Amino acid sequence: MNIAENLHSIRESIPDHVDLVAVSKTKPNALILEAYNCGQRIFGENKIQDLAEKQAALPKDIQWHFIGHLQTNKVKYIAPFVNLIHAVDSLKLLKEINKRAAQHDRVINCLLQIKIAQEESKFGLSVSDAKILLASEEVANLDNIKITGLMGMSTNTPDQNQVNQEFKDLKSLFDTLTTDYNLTILSMGMSGDYALAIKQGSNMIRVGSSIFGART
Ligand SMILES: *Cc1c(COP(=O)(O)O)cnc(C)c1O
Repeated sequence: MNIAENLHSIRESIPDHVDLVAVSKTKPNALILEAYNCGQRIFGENKIQDLAEKQAALPKDIQWHFIGHLQTNKVKYIAPFVNLIHAVDSLKLLKEINKRAAQHDRVINCLLQIKIAQEESKFGLSVSDAKILLASEEVANLDNIKITGLMGMSTNTPDQNQVNQEFKDLKSLFDTLTTDYNLTILSMGMSGDYALAIKQGSNMIRVGSSIFGART
């Protein structure tokens, strides 16, 4: 795997307004540094302990995104530094993030994960539950979190029409909600489908294996 070459060709193929999150989960610090030395600054992890260890060891100007399913009892470990939490799917979790962020005098940016895939295994809020959360006064009163956008994962299927439709649906929800809630980030697209996601309006892609190689 040539990380520099991979990063270069991904950057060449995506528009400037799309942020690239390099998903470094399971990968050692040496490989993350290789990407860092190519100018990459946004990295994504999905395990709390890995994220905390990597953040402590690696350069402090890295922006760390948490992209996995977050348990409330683990928020405290990343609250001091996390830049964006991609997969928030409950009021309980938002309240805990708010509480921990307040302890560090920070505002933590969060994305609501919307369930767009048909697979049962994928986490995320239904469209109606997301709307209820955004409209709730309780959420509006959480001063130490900011809901800055939406995140979604498409169904793992070779059917490109289905993936395309799921991205289209999420973009249309994003457009509807952004008027009232000033959302700016639409995180959708991974190694296998980021080109399609960008075509449908994604402005943040989460790419792992196409940069760092397959995970074992
Ligand atoms: C692992 C992961 C990715 C990256 O997947 P690749 O197919 O390796 O690009 C993106 N988003 C989430 C939420 C992930 O867990």
